[in-house]
Amino acid sequence: MALSGRVALVTGGGRGIGQGTALALARLGAAVALMARSGDQIMTVAELIGANGGRAAAFPGDVGNYADVEVVVGAVEHSLGPIDILINNAAIVEPIAPVAEVDPAAWARLQQINLIGAFHCIRAVLPGMLERGWGRIVNISSGAATGSGLSHGSAYSVSKAGLDMLARATAAETGARGVAVCSIYPGIVDTAMQADIRAVPQERAGEVTYQRFRDFHEQKMLNTIDAVGELIAAAALAGFNGEILDVRGDEARLRAALRSQA
Ligand code: NAP
Repeated sequence: MALSGRVALVTGGGRGIGQGTALALARLGAAVALMARSGDQIMTVAELIGANGGRAAAFPGDVGNYADVEVVVGAVEHSLGPIDILINNAAIVEPIAPVAEVDPAAWARLQQINLIGAFHCIRAVLPGMLERGWGRIVNISSGAATGSGLSHGSAYSVSKAGLDMLARATAAETGARGVAVCSIYPGIVDTAMQADIRAVPQERAGEVTYQRFRDFHEQKMLNTIDAVGELIAAAALAGFNGEILDVRGDEARLRAALRSQA
């Protein structure tokens, strides 16, 4: 299997896109470490991977807290081995509210998780990857990073635009040393985060976001976590460096990477 002998850390691996990605990485042969705040959810995904013949373990922690990240990275390396693949997937979407009304503390909290949390994980695993001369880092970004972003979701949009630049800036330093870093937009996926956005009242979400996410759901436009997880695992496998990928626009390239390693 293409990732046999590799160890992957998936943040936010307890549900949604992180779960789909963790299962796909395990199918490719990687041992998978799952990190999230909800210990029960990551434990359930680890058990699912184990039941399917894979190797996985759960490590509770908050990516927004660097001390937690250091403890988790140390524990993963102790129990599964050095981390070769990092999937920066953990994120929150609230606060959703107009810039003129949003709670400043909630806005900053989102950056602490979505952007600084991803930086924390890169900062903790990158020295080892550079030392060993091999690594793959995939930031799970969003189409909200482009254009005018998610309407009434400035905190989320800014965090994802930052994540893309973090991928590019890191890639510029690491590509020649065997560590490939990219961002990927997963499209519209049927997860708790999508349901959370649909539940935000129109007064806070604004007319555009309120209607848009209802339409996605009603028109059955949501992709599955398994289909998207497979393409994210393909991005890790392929080792795209400094690129901002989209599962829709780049699906053919991602599938080709899976085929070439089969
Ligand atoms: P989700 O179902 O809400 O899952 C988010 C995961 O992140 C959970 O496991 C959650 O667990 C974890 N998490 C949140 N805060 C954390 C923290 N501080 N420390 C550690 N883990 C944390 O969301 P999703 O839809 O699967 O989204 C996954 C990624 O895809 C996110 O980066 C999201 O922005 C991106 N994305 C999603 C869509 C979509 O349509 N769903 C579209 C574009 C981009 P705990 O709460 O237990 O910590």
